[in-house]
Amino acid sequence: MEKRYNKQLGIELPLLAFGAMRLPKLDDKIDFDSAVEMVNYAMENGLNYFDTAYPYHNGESETFLGKVLPKYERSSYFLTDKMPIYNIKKEDDAEKYFNEQLEKCQTDYFDFYLLHAMNKDRVKIMEEFNLYDFLLKKKAEGKIKYIGFSFHDDNETLENLVSNYKWDFVQLQINYYDWYEFEAKKQYEILEKYNLPCFVMEPVRGGFLSSLAPNVEKHMTNYNKEATISSWAIRWVSSLPNIAVVLSGMSNMEQLKDNISTMSPFNPINEDELKVIDTVVEELRKIKPIPCTSCRYCMPCPAGVNIPGIFTIYNNYKKTENITYVKNSYLNNLQSTAQAHNCVKCGACISVCPQHIDIPTELEKIDKEIKSL
Ligand code: SF4
Ligand code: SF4
Repeated sequence: MEKRYNKQLGIELPLLAFGAMRLPKLDDKIDFDSAVEMVNYAMENGLNYFDTAYPYHNGESETFLGKVLPKYERSSYFLTDKMPIYNIKKEDDAEKYFNEQLEKCQTDYFDFYLLHAMNKDRVKIMEEFNLYDFLLKKKAEGKIKYIGFSFHDDNETLENLVSNYKWDFVQLQINYYDWYEFEAKKQYEILEKYNLPCFVMEPVRGGFLSSLAPNVEKHMTNYNKEATISSWAIRWVSSLPNIAVVLSGMSNMEQLKDNISTMSPFNPINEDELKVIDTVVEELRKIKPIPCTSCRYCMPCPAGVNIPGIFTIYNNYKKTENITYVKNSYLNNLQSTAQAHNCVKCGACISVCPQHIDIPTELEKIDKEIKSL
């Protein structure tokens, strides 16, 4: 496993981190045995950074790591958790959630602790309830080693946050699609300007960059038959100089092994490969899928619509153009109560979507298109 010394933090980190947000599932719960096997394999292969958060797997992700990690020496792995800032209604709540998280993770401290999914509204919550001071207090008590935040909003909000407060690191959504199509490049440059290490989330954009339409994938497979499509995305982002660690939310052993082998040893992306990625981005621009990362911040929808589920089905259809698949997945496998026609256009989902998707409009279009096939 490639290790990278981070000069701002003064520590060495594995370049790949284990995101515990999409663990393998069985009957809608974490498939404990399979997930344990993955954690053990990660530890045996030098991947010793684990990232969780309060809402992952409806709270089960923290509890899972609390059951499996304590058999290892605490100093042998890094553990990251995040404050559910969206649940904070008064100042005391920060302490309550923090203690609950330590208890669930069966640990005395977090190596890295973030304010989760910061945006303009959450900056206001942070300021109203003195949450930055709370982080400093926990750092002084030795219960957090490094403080930071993950972020989904505009460049101005990011720059205000990093210039008004002192952080150890920031976690951003960076991948080659967001770099060329959205604001990832500018946000990465803001961190460089403030000399802050960048931790990466969504390097394969919730799976979007791990399997592409045949006419898009062919550019990668013609260049290198052996490399998986995900490995291109992981190597691309890991080649940026100010990246401390790349988090990948892996769901099975195959993905874990592929990611570990991509980083062992790690070969930075070369000039010819960059040209291949440019071509792939050009092709993806033509397909225009919904840029949903399945983060689920829009859920639950009050009308019962399975928003990320529908967008995943539709994106897969656009990438594969398989009519039988989309009709089966949407009209047969998805419950009628979860389909797009149930949307009452209340708008609650729009303001919380980090990808700024006009969700009700897209849902209406998708429903019409699939039913017309
Ligand atoms: S706008 Fe539609 S999809 Fe969004 S939360 Fe409201 S009912 Fe659900
Ligand atoms: S629609 Fe937006 S908020 Fe909902 S899962 Fe997709 S990216 Fe996340």
